[in-house]
Amino acid sequence: AKPIVAVVGRPNVGKSTLFNRLTGGRVAIVEDRPGVTRDRLYRNAKWLNREFTLVDTGGLEFGADGNPFSEVIYKQAEAAIAEADVILFMVDGKAGITADDETVAAVLRRTKKPVFLVVNKIEDFSQRDKYYEFFALGLGDPIPISATHGMNTGDLLDAVIEAL
Ligand code: GDP
Ligand code: MG
Repeated sequence: AKPIVAVVGRPNVGKSTLFNRLTGGRVAIVEDRPGVTRDRLYRNAKWLNREFTLVDTGGLEFGADGNPFSEVIYKQAEAAIAEADVILFMVDGKAGITADDETVAAVLRRTKKPVFLVVNKIEDFSQRDKYYEFFALGLGDPIPISATHGMNTGDLLDAVIEAL
């Protein structure tokens, strides 16, 4: 089986945008693991000849009132830790740190697996304070990207395959 790289984070940070950009629609066959696959999408990706399976989380994020369930976000982070070899924790550089970011970060700080703190929606890398504030989440140096423009996603993938 290929190594698994999971993208986690609260709703609307840009997880699916990055997932679609990196996988280009290739479907992955992943063994059935009862209870963990229902709210996740798996697709194969390749960077510099290194193949891996990328996981997009997020089908069950919204409650009846349209607000995300923190409990669900929490469980998704736990599931990602359990199944992934590398975790991409995505946050929104336009929104800044939110309570849900803190919830996910608290779970991810407990794993020994490699976690990359990815700050999305950074279209101007000279605005260092916009992404450096996320250093406070205690998960190392924030990596700025723009999923829609593809900015810095190559450097991110370089680091990911290095960690596989
Ligand atoms: P998800 O809920 O985490 O999967 O987030 P989506 O991928 O669905 O994206 C949520 C919204 O953020 C959409 O409107 C995207 O177009 C927008 N978005 C995603 N990536 C970027 C980015 O790099 N820059 C900007 N400005 N918007 C983005
Ligand atoms: Mg999504």
